[in-house]
Amino acid sequence: MSGNSEGPDFEGAVVYAIPMRTRFRGIMVREGMLIPGPLGWGEFCAFPEYGDREAAAWLATAVEQVTVGWPEPVRDRIPVNCIVPAVGPERAYEIVAASGCRTAKVKVADHPDSLREDLDRVAATRDALGPDGAVRIDANAVWDVETAVDRIKQIDRAAGGLEYVEQPCRTVEELAAVRRRVDVRIAADESIRRAEDPLRVAVAGAADAAVLKCTPLGGVRRALQVAAAAGLPCLVSSALETSVGLSAQIALAASLPELDFACGLDTLSLLTGDVVTEPLRPVDGYLPVSRTAPVPDPELLDRYRHPDPERTDWWRRRLARVRELL
Ligand SMILES: [Mg+2]
Repeated sequence: MSGNSEGPDFEGAVVYAIPMRTRFRGIMVREGMLIPGPLGWGEFCAFPEYGDREAAAWLATAVEQVTVGWPEPVRDRIPVNCIVPAVGPERAYEIVAASGCRTAKVKVADHPDSLREDLDRVAATRDALGPDGAVRIDANAVWDVETAVDRIKQIDRAAGGLEYVEQPCRTVEELAAVRRRVDVRIAADESIRRAEDPLRVAVAGAADAAVLKCTPLGGVRRALQVAAAAGLPCLVSSALETSVGLSAQIALAASLPELDFACGLDTLSLLTGDVVTEPLRPVDGYLPVSRTAPVPDPELLDRYRHPDPERTDWWRRRLARVRELL
């Protein structure tokens, strides 16, 4: 694909750097590229440690966004969950109460002796949500099977019932083993990085739901195909994009035939800034669906243009290599 009038304008791409509010995935600054094209702008922000092949799916998502756009949405707003990090119970209560969300995702197992803190955190979250809200937890793949079974049962009781547990263990086989021994639903997140993964998870009986991101799957249309092939209930989560890339994840959530779970799309709050004047932040727990992506504001593009010429160069060289793989 080249920078002709029909395709993306790769030469016109802008490398950005936006500081994070707190360290996330070991990074303090989110970097990426914004790429203009005939239908607007797309975002290429594969994490730096990803190889070119994996990054190509992320670029395909940006190319879809600026050249063909997205399928018709089937809903006009997306329910989202608020995020409760590893904080004390008072702070957990405040976060949930202030969010307006009816679903809270609570981080657990952030250190080996976290159980008491985890129980207090989910209990405070339930207090803030009331009996009708949904509490889910995310263990980010750190438990072994025995620990997962024991912890999930205790946390489920303290939470007054969990909606699901996200990725309690690392492997698909471990997820399946845990799922056979607990009554709480299991959702696969880290296990889904490539297009064939959701089907693998479903065949193994490893999860009751799949967390999808359109970026590693190669775009909204590809992600919809993957969801259909897997036959699992799916929800959508962001990859820590600006509003430009986040709009693609929202488009995926908007066009999934079924959406039974709130999505992990309230992530702009993790960044200190955005490239659009009206960031895609939820109101009363919902994100509105728009058929077009937001357009970066020239002043904000300037403000967040990467200040380091070496990093800018790194991103341009990466884009040049990854383009060849499309
Ligand atoms: Mg997760």
